[in-house]
Parts: sequence; C-alpha cells; structure tokens
Amino acid sequence: MNHKQALKHHIFKIISHSAEELQLDCYVIGGFVRDYLLERGDAKDIDVVAVGSGIELAQQVSKNLETNPKVQIFKTYGTAMLRYDDIEVEFVGARKESYHENSRNPIVENGTLQDDQNRRDFTINALALSLNTSNFGELLDPFNGIKDLDKGIIRTPLDPDITYSDDPLRMMRAIRFATQLNFKIEEQSLKAITDNKDRIKIITKERIVTELNKILESDKPSIGFKLLEKTGLLDFILPELTALKGIDEVEGQRHKDNFYHTLEVVDNICETTDNLWLRWAALLHDIGKAPTKKFSKKVGWTFHAHEFVGSKMVYKLFKRLKMPLNDKMKFVQKMVLMSSRPIVLASDVTDSAVRRLVFDAGEHVDDLMTLCEADITTKNPKKFKKYHNNFKLVRDKIVEVEERDRVRNFQPPVSGEEIMKAFNLKPSKEIGIIKEAIKEAILEGDIPNEHEAAYQLMIKKGKKLGLTVAV
Ligand code: ATP
Repeated sequence: MNHKQALKHHIFKIISHSAEELQLDCYVIGGFVRDYLLERGDAKDIDVVAVGSGIELAQQVSKNLETNPKVQIFKTYGTAMLRYDDIEVEFVGARKESYHENSRNPIVENGTLQDDQNRRDFTINALALSLNTSNFGELLDPFNGIKDLDKGIIRTPLDPDITYSDDPLRMMRAIRFATQLNFKIEEQSLKAITDNKDRIKIITKERIVTELNKILESDKPSIGFKLLEKTGLLDFILPELTALKGIDEVEGQRHKDNFYHTLEVVDNICETTDNLWLRWAALLHDIGKAPTKKFSKKVGWTFHAHEFVGSKMVYKLFKRLKMPLNDKMKFVQKMVLMSSRPIVLASDVTDSAVRRLVFDAGEHVDDLMTLCEADITTKNPKKFKKYHNNFKLVRDKIVEVEERDRVRNFQPPVSGEEIMKAFNLKPSKEIGIIKEAIKEAILEGDIPNEHEAAYQLMIKKGKKLGLTVAV
C-alpha cells in the first residue's frame, strides 16, 4: 500500500528532490510514520534517514527551501537538524550499531536502510516511508510493525534481551509507549525487561525523568507505573512508591494498599488537569505513609504526620533524580504537606477554617482541592457522592470567603512602616507581634480585612504592649 497521503507537506518534496540531487536514498522513519498510521494527528517531529550523509542532505534541503533555514549540526552523532514552519526535521545517515557493556552509546558504522531499521527500538518505530522518486510513499516494514500497530503490541525487531541490555533506556521507552498508546508489551520483551532491570543504573537520571514525565502526561499513567512495578524497575527509580505496596493486617485490622490507591489518584487527577506538577503531587501525596505507619490496639493503623514527612521526602527524591529544585518542587511539597487539610475541614466547614486554608494554600488552593477530589477512591457510591458533595461545599465556601476577605494573596492591611510611625518606633519585635495579631484576628473573623478595623486593633494591641501613640 502506498502512503503518499502522509507526505503531502511541501517539505517532503524538497527532501526527495534534494536527495535525488545528491544521488542518495532517504526515508522518513520512526515516530512520524507510527503516529500517521495510528492517526494520532500531524506529528511535528520528522526523522529522516539517508543512505549516505545525513548532514549533507540537511544542507542541501536548506539550500532548496525558500527560507534557507539554519542547519544545526551534531558532529558527534553525525546528525543535523533544521526547522521549517513549525516542523523540526532531523537527518541521520543510515547506520549499523554495536554496543559495549558499560555504555548505551554504540560504536557506529555506515549501513543500509535495513541496518538502520535493525537498530530501532520497536517494530512500530522501525516503519519507514520512502522519499525516493521511484517509490515515493512506499512503506518499508521488515518486522511487520504494521501488524503490531494493529494489534497494539510493543515488540523489539531483534532479540529483546540484547536490545534492552544494549540500551537500557529502551526499557523505559517500552513502558512509556505502552502507556501513551495503551499497548501491551509482548511477553518475551516483558521478561527481558525484568531480567535486565538493574541495567537501568547506566542510564542518566535526566533521561529516566523525561520518560517518567511522559508517562505522567499520558491519559492513564497507572498503566506505566504498574509495568514499572511488575518488571522491578520501580524499585530502582522510585523506591518510595514500592514501599507503599501491600496490605498489613494486625488483629483483624487492615489498611488499604497505598500503592494501588496512589495510582488510582493519579489516573483520577489526569481527568481534570494537565498540570504535570500537580500530577507529580498526586503520585507522591502518600509517600510519607510508609515510614510513618504504626499499629496500636487503641486506634488501629495510623500514619501520623505523613504529610510533613512526605513533603520532606519530596525534596530528597527530586534531588536524587536531578529534577528541578525550584518553585515546581516547592509546589509539589506544598501540595503533599497540605493534602489532608481540606479533608479535615470538610466535615465542619467554618469560615475561619476556610480562611486559614486559603491563606496557607494561597494561589494554589484550587489545585489543592483538585488533588483532594482525586484522592476520593472509595468504591462505595454513597460515600463517593457524599465526599464529593462535602468538597463542593468547601469550594463554595472558598469563593464566598475570598470575595469578602481576600486572604488568598494576603497583604497586611496595616504595614510595618505605619505601625512604626504610629508609635514612633524603630524596627523592633513589637511590630511583628502587632502584625501577627492583626493577621490572626482577620483569619479568625474577629475583624474584617480592612484598613480602619486593623488600625484600631493596632492601637489597642500597642497600648497593651505598653506603647504610646505618637500621632
Ligand atoms: P516521541 O516523539 O513520542 O518521543 P518518537 O518515536 O519520535 O516518539 P524519538 O525519541 O524522537 O521518539 O525517536 C525517534 C525514533 O528514533 C524512534 O521512533 C526510534 O525509531 C528511534 N529511537 C529513539 N530512541 C531509540 C533508542 N533508545 N533505541 C533505538 N531506537 C531509538
């Protein structure tokens, strides 16, 4: 079957023409072809393999394009890249690869298209479309990748044991594609991943995190995390999560399996938000439960202060995985730390408790509510409805309180300078005491969040502290 349809974009004609000028064969390969056949929308990344120099082909294409885009050359890899419209085209010379035990970087020689297809990770990623004038649009599929696409199977072109051992990043990629496409990993592959799991140690943390992020950005990340767990990879990558596995029973009292619960929460939150960091927060919201788990006859299972412990673990985990230790990490920490607050509140929604919640969560209060709603995983429909209704009440109350008291991004209604002027003070601890008293009174609802009321309280509090009014 011919797939000219996939190659309608102007750029393919230019590439084809340029290759003819250089008298070499070239093909579109990998993700672009796979996603076209899966009807996953127009891919913006195009990988072109040239039987010859990929760099020369890129330069020729740039010459022939009316915009003459800049060609970025990566000499070490023998690849070149250029941008045209919103499309990124990567050119590589067809190659044959062989591997050393301690590195995922192969020794490379020039090769044929078939050699190049052999080095691809999965049959569905080895599909190529010809750009040559003689057979433009023809599908070259030596491993019957089209059948695997049809059946939804992740399979390696060559022996899976060698494929994964050569480049263990492929284990993460297999699981990531299985998650994104909702495909099954073929049995031999799954076994090979399990057998080679400790080879993941030679992969950089950054690469691992890129794949984890792609799993978390999928519609149903639990598919990936279950596979990571099943193959044993999760123990190497996120042992904090595997520590949540299992149900303990003492004297007939059981707690839930917090690993599977967590995965349900992650899937739930993916239905309401695309925010990757909120998805991370869902993944990590219960990690403090493993180290804090205790059983006592009186109260049964407890996870005392697991939110606090968990938020501290977030920092260590981000550091270990070389993830950003910036405001994103702080956001995840905050969500984990506050993850039980709305639940406590839901049974008795008072104005002052809601004000404190909004004050503490600040601009992230809506995200926090989204996390708590996703955390409802009860299978009892009555309880499910009740808990959601409770949170709805909290959300309504947040809006009401916020309209009236504006504590979300709290600015003290009386400034430190004003306090100093009023009592003719130099910077001193009394100013802090008065400011704190005003904030507390507002959060408690004793005074409205307004300047006049706060000013009066300042005078009263100052007098109590033995200060005299200067003006
Ligand atoms: P996506 O864009 O969704 O990540 P993709 O398949 O385009 O999917 P890339 O990482 O851009 O992924 O890789 C392009 C192609 O290069 C792949 O389709 C595959 O053929 C090949 N490839 C990438 N990484 C590897 C690898 N580690 N081992 C073997 N082949 C790989």
